[in-house]
Amino acid sequence: MTIDRLPDAARRLVRKYLQRLDLSIDDLWVTADRNEFQRWLGRRVSASIGGAYVFLPLPQKHAVLINLERIDLDQPRALEIVIAEELIHMRDWIDGDRRGHARHGYDRIATRVVDITGATFEEVRSPLLPVERRPWRYVYGCAACGLLIPRRRKGGWSCPRCAPRFDRRYQLEIVEYLGRDGH
Ligand SMILES: [Zn+2]
Repeated sequence: MTIDRLPDAARRLVRKYLQRLDLSIDDLWVTADRNEFQRWLGRRVSASIGGAYVFLPLPQKHAVLINLERIDLDQPRALEIVIAEELIHMRDWIDGDRRGHARHGYDRIATRVVDITGATFEEVRSPLLPVERRPWRYVYGCAACGLLIPRRRKGGWSCPRCAPRFDRRYQLEIVEYLGRDGH
């Protein structure tokens, strides 16, 4: 599903590493669209990730996200590194190895990415663009205990100190507007 909608470079690399890792394209759902990936999963994934692998039990498919907007495409091996790594996760899942990462960029998975792509450990550790953190926009406060929490966006949260789970009675309120971003 959907491999044909990937940009050329990504599609070529997915095919290359499916073959290298002896994986079937029939079992794979792959997308460069984070919204589509989130629909497959039924939950959100962080916008900052470069790629993701999840096995979907109901359709019995391996879902892979290649989050192009986060990958540093100026680095010649960056896209290849992300794709190889996600397909190594798929290989592991099929082989029954559910351990995941011990330490991203430094573990046995990183070693395999190095082996299979010919990239250096240095490259394997840094295929992504630096995360741009937006500035704090609001200060939320708890009327019950006085806790103050900065936030980048508006939302409905309750006080983590007063309520272990979301509880409307301890909903945080905006107590201060910080400057508009960048101005
Ligand atoms: Zn509180």
